Amino acid sequence: MSKVTMDKIVALCKRRGFVFPGSDIYGGFASTWDYGPYGIQLKENIKNFWWKTFILQREDIVGIDSSILMNPKTWEASGHIGNFADPLMDCKNCKERVRGDHILEKELGIEAVAGKSLDQITALVKEHKIKCPKCGKMDFTEARAFNMMFKTHQGVIEETSTAVYLRPETAQGIFVNFKNIQQSCRKKIPFGVGQVGKSFRNEITPGNFTFRTREFEQMEIEYFIDPKSDIKKSFEEWKELSKKWYMDLGIKEKNLRYREHDKDELSHYSTMTFDIEYEYPFGWGELMGVAYRGCFDLEQHQKFSGKNMEYLDPQTNEKYLPHVIEPAFGLSRATLTVLIDAYDEDEIGGETRVVMRFDPKIAPVRVAIFPLMKKPELSKVARSIFDKLKEDFVVEYDESGAIGKRYRRHDEIGTPHCITVDFDSLEDDSVTIRDRDTLKQDRIKISEIKEYLTQ
Ligand SMILES: [Zn+2]
Repeated sequence: MSKVTMDKIVALCKRRGFVFPGSDIYGGFASTWDYGPYGIQLKENIKNFWWKTFILQREDIVGIDSSILMNPKTWEASGHIGNFADPLMDCKNCKERVRGDHILEKELGIEAVAGKSLDQITALVKEHKIKCPKCGKMDFTEARAFNMMFKTHQGVIEETSTAVYLRPETAQGIFVNFKNIQQSCRKKIPFGVGQVGKSFRNEITPGNFTFRTREFEQMEIEYFIDPKSDIKKSFEEWKELSKKWYMDLGIKEKNLRYREHDKDELSHYSTMTFDIEYEYPFGWGELMGVAYRGCFDLEQHQKFSGKNMEYLDPQTNEKYLPHVIEPAFGLSRATLTVLIDAYDEDEIGGETRVVMRFDPKIAPVRVAIFPLMKKPELSKVARSIFDKLKEDFVVEYDESGAIGKRYRRHDEIGTPHCITVDFDSLEDDSVTIRDRDTLKQDRIKISEIKEYLTQ
């Protein structure tokens, strides 16, 4: 009914315990957010649904959980030390910070900028009198390298310790384990490896709540294929499977679209990338990416580690470096998108109701149980229902406050069903089940609640 805004989402998330500002009592900390009790449960449910869909229900994909801290050589091989360093320049007049390579590309085209050093970029910007995109002046600082990776030190004394990085993607933990996984699990190409975990990027412009943060959770799959197979076909399959997964999560198809990357926005490793975009309150934005990475990563790790990364085809006895299709889902971003997509307002008795229409399989609370009033005889029955249902569902027991207020609270938490135990329940062994979306109230036998909830 009413249009969802980011302000409404941020307010609801704090009010109902989904997401709080990080370090809140200290006034927050730039672009950090903490998941509250309902937020973590929603996120866990999304993660488990992903794991079930892609790891447990597929014979050709297995899981891994690799370290966040990796041998720094990993990042030399992957190109994150080097290519990931952006040449940043500041406008001396208005202090706008720009990517030197980007403002040059706009004027001269991508070929003129590719492979240029920091000094060359500084010189080219001067030579071609490139103007500040914000104020129009031509007065920039020199280009400085800005690496997106968080750097820290391993060892007791900073001066003598080794520089290490927080991983900027989970993918490399999969690539360095390619042989371990393939050999220990006797996997034959094509097969995939999936991983869920935190990654860190020192983004220059984080923002829009949890949409872009410096610390975030990814759900990535590296799918290894024979370079002689139909790569385009596998790529298309992953595009469709990825979109289908978001729709199974309950996200409306009308809010989703594909977008192909232009040549100049492709990552250093990719020749083909598609985003799935979602229409956020602030416009269309990336929900996930599907990238064809070729054999870039395995080849680089083979070169930098000196270890053979080739796959031996047991049928043909042929050795080759597999190619890779990477569907890169984001857990943090999927969670935000679900929150936005589920948000709705309608009217009950002349009052506006805010309701989160989560798909029941990911709702943070599946069912809430209320005794109509705080009376021992009602509580006893309600408690026994709670104890039975908690074996199979996430259940919440709530006996404080007016019944209408309890309903309203669980509408905002997105609880699909509320069960009320009243005085009649003591006579007829039945309860009232209220449906969050239709507001319909059914009277059913206590012994049939589980069956009712599972259909
Ligand atoms: Zn300026």
